[in-house]
Amino acid sequence: MAQRPKTEPSLGTPRSGSQQGLRVRNRQLVLTTILNEGAATQSELARSTGLSQGTISSLVKELVADRVVETEAVVSSGRRATLVSLKSDAQIVVGVDVGRTHLRVATFNLRHELLGRKDFALELGHSYTQTLALAGECLTELLEVSGHDRAAILSCVVGIPVSIDTYSMSVIQGSVLPTWAGVDLREVSEQHLGTPVTLENDANLGALAHSVYDDTEAKNLVYIKIASGIGAGLVQDGRIYRSTSGLSGEIGHFQVFDAGTVCYCGNRGCLETIASTRSLVADFGRMRMNPEPTLSGLVAEVEARDPAVLRLIDDAGAALGKTLAVLANLLAPDVIVIGGPLGSAAADLLEAARVAAHRQALPAVEASTNFKVSRFKNDAELWGACALAIQIAGVRALGGGPLSSSITIK
Ligand SMILES: [Zn+2]
Repeated sequence: MAQRPKTEPSLGTPRSGSQQGLRVRNRQLVLTTILNEGAATQSELARSTGLSQGTISSLVKELVADRVVETEAVVSSGRRATLVSLKSDAQIVVGVDVGRTHLRVATFNLRHELLGRKDFALELGHSYTQTLALAGECLTELLEVSGHDRAAILSCVVGIPVSIDTYSMSVIQGSVLPTWAGVDLREVSEQHLGTPVTLENDANLGALAHSVYDDTEAKNLVYIKIASGIGAGLVQDGRIYRSTSGLSGEIGHFQVFDAGTVCYCGNRGCLETIASTRSLVADFGRMRMNPEPTLSGLVAEVEARDPAVLRLIDDAGAALGKTLAVLANLLAPDVIVIGGPLGSAAADLLEAARVAAHRQALPAVEASTNFKVSRFKNDAELWGACALAIQIAGVRALGGGPLSSSITIK
């Protein structure tokens, strides 16, 4: 996938005022310029950053010593010059995407290029110890194939489809992974993966993937993941929005019907009870009197334009649109992206949602928001993990500059 990544130059802003703070900030500026614009000569870096040639030369020496960049003598405009590029294949980042029924582990270089990946289907109710142990084994195999050891990992992001309590680093009760609740997931993840881990909600990662790789002009973007559960990730001014508690984005539990089905969260008529893939597949099974309905079977009948199955999707889309109208009126985002494993059925769901949102959102707000289906298929969360891991790596590569609280959950 050819991408022009957009990274955040202000991540990890050090304390201002001190000489050391200024140096860290300048190193960060040079690194983010190379991450954003690709290899550049020292003169080009001086022009792009506004720093002097002498400062650039000294910063590049430090970054070479830290194995973050490499230099090459070239001729530019008829003069000898030093080309500075990321030492991308020496150091890597890791993205892990855990779902209710899947595990994906991937390694990337610092140019946002996929080095290797492993995908597994998981049983419903999989345990955190088994899944994270499997993730650790996958990572070991990927590192063996690419010829890296764990010391080459600059950062590792694990995405999970739940809200994480930012105080205990544990999964909240009443989530789609009930057996994971109450565990310090960062500690367990680090034990199994053998590297420091940043945990992140998967919908937040989906939002970041679109902001960095797809809707790069959108300042404010909402990603709605429609899977076994329904969650929203929000990017505001190019950064993931996180509430203090870490519990934002739970739109799956927005009540769409007062007298609807009781949800596993304890409320009644939540959006998830009608529009999650779990509910859709269950309704599809009941309708067909099929004890083992599948999502792929449902999608196939949507493609065949079966009227009863289209009605299921239409009702789910109407409920989703009601929720999106509230979301759009509240946030007026530039883009709302629908993602998840619905495949070709996502376009029908979005169309029904758009009709409902058109009826219920403020016309000016609805007109200024672009509704679309994700082009990442099932991989938005994995690419979001890559993007976040590289943002974190960009900060860590600065030789211990303080990490921004906006990119690590404390
Ligand atoms: Zn609920």
